[in-house]
Amino acid sequence: MSGNGSQNGQTPVLRTFQRRNMEQIPGFDKLTPERRRIVDVVSRVLPFKTNNYVCEQIIDWSNIPDDSIFQLTFPQEEMLAPEHFAEIAALVDANTPPKQIDEAARRIQRSLNPHPSGQVEMNVPRIDGEALPGMQHKYHETVLFFPSQGQTCHAYCTYCFRWPQFVQLDDLKFATKEGEKLVQYVREHPEVTDILFTGGDPMIMRTAVLRRYIDPLLAPEFERLTIRIGTKAVAYWPHRFVDDKDAADTLRLFEDITAAGRHLAIMGHYSHPNELKTEIAQKAVRNILGTGAVIRCQAPLIRHVNDDSDVWSEMMRLQVNLGCVPYYMFVERDTGAKRYFELPLADALEIFNGAYRQVSGLGRTMRGPIMSATPGKVHVTDITEVNGEKVFALRLVQGRNPEWTNRLFFAAYDPSAVWWEDLRPASFDDGFFFSDELNEMHLAAARNAADVVTRAPVTLSAKTRKNLVTVS
Ligand SMILES: *Cc1c(COP(=O)(O)O)cnc(C)c1O
Ligand code: SF4
Repeated sequence: MSGNGSQNGQTPVLRTFQRRNMEQIPGFDKLTPERRRIVDVVSRVLPFKTNNYVCEQIIDWSNIPDDSIFQLTFPQEEMLAPEHFAEIAALVDANTPPKQIDEAARRIQRSLNPHPSGQVEMNVPRIDGEALPGMQHKYHETVLFFPSQGQTCHAYCTYCFRWPQFVQLDDLKFATKEGEKLVQYVREHPEVTDILFTGGDPMIMRTAVLRRYIDPLLAPEFERLTIRIGTKAVAYWPHRFVDDKDAADTLRLFEDITAAGRHLAIMGHYSHPNELKTEIAQKAVRNILGTGAVIRCQAPLIRHVNDDSDVWSEMMRLQVNLGCVPYYMFVERDTGAKRYFELPLADALEIFNGAYRQVSGLGRTMRGPIMSATPGKVHVTDITEVNGEKVFALRLVQGRNPEWTNRLFFAAYDPSAVWWEDLRPASFDDGFFFSDELNEMHLAAARNAADVVTRAPVTLSAKTRKNLVTVS
C-alpha cells in the first residue's frame, strides 16, 4: 500500500496499554525501574491509558521524561501531592491487596475536585421537567451530548478533567443511551443550532453506533443544525480516519452528514505539533476534509506539554497548512493534577501572544487563553492599566446569559492567579457586571437540585448531593 501509513499493507489494530499490561508497552523497556514504579503508583489514582500508535510514532523515547507526548500520556510523580504519592507508594511496596489500594486511591480521587465549574448542578437540560443527564445545555445555541458508549478515549491525557468518567465514579458520570431524547430536546428548542458530540471521545464508538445518534439529526426538520464532534482520535488514533477496519465507514458517515446539507465540524484536540507530523495524522486530516467536513483545532495550555509560544505557533502553522482552522487555546481547569500542569494566567497570555504574533492572519482564528468557567468562556485578552491600576482585561466569548457575550470587564492584576476563582474585580468595580445575575442563577439551580437528585436516572453520591444543596 502506498502512502496510507499502514504497515505491510495490513489493517492497523489499536492496542491499548494500562497498568495491568504496561510491561508490554513499546518503549517501556527504555524506562528506568524508578520511572516504571512511578507509572505503577500514580496510575492507581490518575487514569492511565496509552496505545501502540502513540508509543511507536509520537513519543520520542530518547527524550524521557521531558518529551511532550510522554508528559501528555504518562503519569509523573509530581502529578500527585507528595503525601498522596507516599501513601500509595507505601501500599504498593508492601504488596497490599489491590482492593485496599483502590480504596485509598478512591479517597484521593474524591479530594481532587472531579466535577468543576458547576456542571452537575447548573447545566442539566430537561424534558417535561425530567433531567437528561447525558446532555448539557449551558450556552443558548449549543447542546453538548455525551453518548454513553463514548465515555473513554484511545489514550488518556494526564491532565484530563473528565477523568471521573474513566475511573468508575459512576455516580458522577453523565451518560445516556437515549438519542431520541436528544432529538426531542432539539425539536423543543429551536434556539439550538449546534449539537456537539463529546465524551470521552465519541470517535471511540464504532461508526454503526455513532450513526444511530447522528442519522436522526439529518432529517429535514433539523436543517438548521451544525454537527460538531469533539475528538482526540485525530491525534491518538488517526488510523480511524485512514485505514483501520472502521475507517471507510467513518468517512462515509461524514460524507452522509455533509451530503444532507449539514455542516460537520470536527473539533480536533491537538496538543502539540508532533501529533500532526506523522504521515498517518496528515492523511487523516486530508481524508476528513475530503468528506466536506471542517477541522477546528483546540487544546488546553499545559505546563510540561505545550507551555511555549514556539510550540503553539508551529502547531498553528501546521494546522493552517493542512487546511484546518485554529480555534481555542484553553486554560487548564481546576481539577485533578492541576498543580503540576497549571500556569499563571499572565504567563498563559504571554505564550498566546507570542504564538499569535508568529502566524499569519489565517492562524489568528485561534482565541485564547480561555477559561471555561461558571459564568462562561472567559477570554483573557490583555494586561493593561485603568485609572492607574494594573488589571486583566477580560471578555466573555460565551456567557451563561447570551447578553453577557463580548462585553469587556476587568479584574485586579494578580501574577499568581491561575484560574477564574483566583480573580477579584478591579478596585473601581463593586463586582463583575454579571455577578448578581449569576448568583441568582446559582440560587435557582440550588432550588432545582433536589429535583435533579430525585428524578435523574443516576445515583448521586453523598458528596455530590451535598455540593448540590450548597451551591448558593
Ligand atoms: C465551549 C463550549 C461550547 C461550545 O462553544 P463555542 O464557543 O460555540 O465553541 C458549548 N457548550 C459548552 C458547555 C462549552 O464549554
Ligand atoms: S482526549 Fe479529551 S476526554 Fe480523553 S483524556 Fe484527553 S482530554 Fe480527556
